[in-house]
Amino acid sequence: MNASAPLIRLAGITKTYGRGQAAFQALKGIDLEIAQGEFVAVMGPSGSGKSTVMNILGCLDTPTAGSYEFQGVHVERLTRDQRALLRRHFLGFVFQGFNLLARTSALENVELPLIYRGEPAASRHAAARTALQQVGLDGWERHTPGELSGGQQQRVAIARAIVTRPEVLLADEPTGNLDTHTSREIMELISSFSIEQGITVLMVTHEPDMAEYARRIVHFVDGRVDSDRINGGVA
Ligand code: ADP
Repeated sequence: MNASAPLIRLAGITKTYGRGQAAFQALKGIDLEIAQGEFVAVMGPSGSGKSTVMNILGCLDTPTAGSYEFQGVHVERLTRDQRALLRRHFLGFVFQGFNLLARTSALENVELPLIYRGEPAASRHAAARTALQQVGLDGWERHTPGELSGGQQQRVAIARAIVTRPEVLLADEPTGNLDTHTSREIMELISSFSIEQGITVLMVTHEPDMAEYARRIVHFVDGRVDSDRINGGVA
């Protein structure tokens, strides 16, 4: 690993869906560097390629061409299993729809990524409790998603994302299902992980008010980076 290299470097990333006449180029050559600890909002119209690039960054999909370096490692050269390991050990995910297991307690939901890692039960429970405390859900461990508000469910999802101490948090419209007040609380929480723990955050959002929490705003248009600017941030 090269200490001076950016955490993430995309160079000439393209993505074509389908073949022949039905082929559609969703990404047309993305160059993007993200340093460790940055908080980046990804914006742009529907269909501009935001999800496609997030899926590539999240090792859930592979580019058609171009290179994706993570800590100097060429992700596009990894096997599927190696990419899964990278995902499990370095990345945390937060989704618009929370994606929690119903009829499963908050604690067990948060423990899931640690089960995939094969961690023993005692350390899993302890880490999940700590993560729930960090998102302000002390005392809610035994509640199932149906017994929690939308904001609380997203807090559980954030706890699940950070319980593995990931390098990067990938958030896809994390406040898309929440009212304005709750959205702000969730953004404050995500910001705090960025600022206090140095977690790199990449967040897709349609909402300019939420993008204001980020320190950098990248706009996608038609499969390309249209603008990339430093944001003053919320006062
Ligand atoms: P955004 O997240 O900005 O709304 P997407 O990355 O989801 O945009 O999609 C970019 C373009 O690629 C869209 O035109 C979409 O229809 C197309 N696309 C996305 N996924 C697929 C797929 N699996 N097969 C075919 N086309 C796709």
